[in-house]
Amino acid sequence: MSFTIEIITTGDELMTGLTADGNFFWAGDILASRGLEAAYHTTVGDYMERIIEAFGIARGRADAVIVSGGLGPTDDDLTAEAAARFLGTGLELNREALASIEARYRKRGRVMTEINRKQACLPKGCTVLVNEWGTAPGWRSESEGTVFYFLPGVPRDFRAMMEAYVLPGLERAAAGRPAAKTRLVRTFGLPESGVAERLAGMEREGVRLGYRAHFPEVHLRVTAYGASADAAESLLAEMTDDITARLAGYVFSVNGETMEEVLGGLLRERGLTLATAESCTGGLIAHRVTNIPGSSEYFLEGVVSYSNEAKEKILGVPHDALVEHGAVSGPVVEAMARGVRKLAGSDIGVAVSGIAGPGGGTPEKPVGTVYIGTDSASHGAGSERFLFFGTREEIKLATSSRAIMTVMQILLNNV
Ligand code: ATP
Ligand code: MG
Repeated sequence: MSFTIEIITTGDELMTGLTADGNFFWAGDILASRGLEAAYHTTVGDYMERIIEAFGIARGRADAVIVSGGLGPTDDDLTAEAAARFLGTGLELNREALASIEARYRKRGRVMTEINRKQACLPKGCTVLVNEWGTAPGWRSESEGTVFYFLPGVPRDFRAMMEAYVLPGLERAAAGRPAAKTRLVRTFGLPESGVAERLAGMEREGVRLGYRAHFPEVHLRVTAYGASADAAESLLAEMTDDITARLAGYVFSVNGETMEEVLGGLLRERGLTLATAESCTGGLIAHRVTNIPGSSEYFLEGVVSYSNEAKEKILGVPHDALVEHGAVSGPVVEAMARGVRKLAGSDIGVAVSGIAGPGGGTPEKPVGTVYIGTDSASHGAGSERFLFFGTREEIKLATSSRAIMTVMQILLNNV
């Protein structure tokens, strides 16, 4: 039997749609990424009987239960009381929990209020999970072979305590059971149907493929099951290799890295630098590249040359090229890429110009027409034409991704 996990999120605000159940989404994702599967998810409002009932159902079917929310000091925070009744232990003032709350208040130069003492009243016999990120301590209790983790609902605390206590605990508990290993394969450049077509016939026992459109990317969650972690891992590696081969040129990461992280890694590895010249994306490429910490090592300069005058004045695009071919053209993006590379003294220059819409399209150059130009020591100058669909924002985003992929491909084809 594989290791069964249930997530219980509590709170009226979740039931009434006031708050999105972000803790569940986050937990489901991180569990899956660790090869731990959430088998059940229950959401329950702030009612004592219903919470106790949910604990009972979970104990009957799960090896481990993660409970989120209701650990605060207010009247609608019922989790500790519900747990104490469910476990049949009663509540007691937990010295360790109290000390951790007091320490937190002292550190901030404040005095603990009486109401916070409630947060230190936990079911007898539990193990305190110290909350270094917020006030409410969590705890761990066991009942009839099922382990319960009780965590605060505040998303930052919930996540930090999942990482610090729950995930290591679950990984230990699940060791030796039939295991699942999973990987997120990220692709760009094919629609979901195109990805599915290329992967047709890959279905096999012990493997699950899940598709997720994440505009403008398509992500694939590959999960492999095996009698042991090693067996699952080797099946997963085999599947990932096969998928990467079938989707050659479209896969940019198999370990959760974003496109801009992969680009940054390649530039750093090769000791090369990049500069960007953007028209229709208005700086989006530079923004994404510089979202990566340490990007100053390889990103030198970004120019937003929106008007024709800027393209001429800053980047030295020939006036004649603009007149003859228009701002959205191969010769112009090549000149932009050359210009920004020279201006910055970078190894690679990349430039984009396009029609993001909704207006401005013509029969020859409809909305979504984009030219991407590059200039590099290894490949010289070149350009390519693309057609993207969607809203103005979507076309900008797709263009930025295409440009990043184009630079990645230059790097992969050596420089
Ligand atoms: P507190 O000490 O703040 O009362 P708590 O453990 O009692 O913490 P809750 O009262 O349930 O937690 O929620 C605290 C905050 O976290 C609220 O703003 C709530 O909207 C948010 N929150 C609770 N549960 C979730 C969830 N499942 N997903 C996202 N946010 C949540
Ligand atoms: Mg609360």
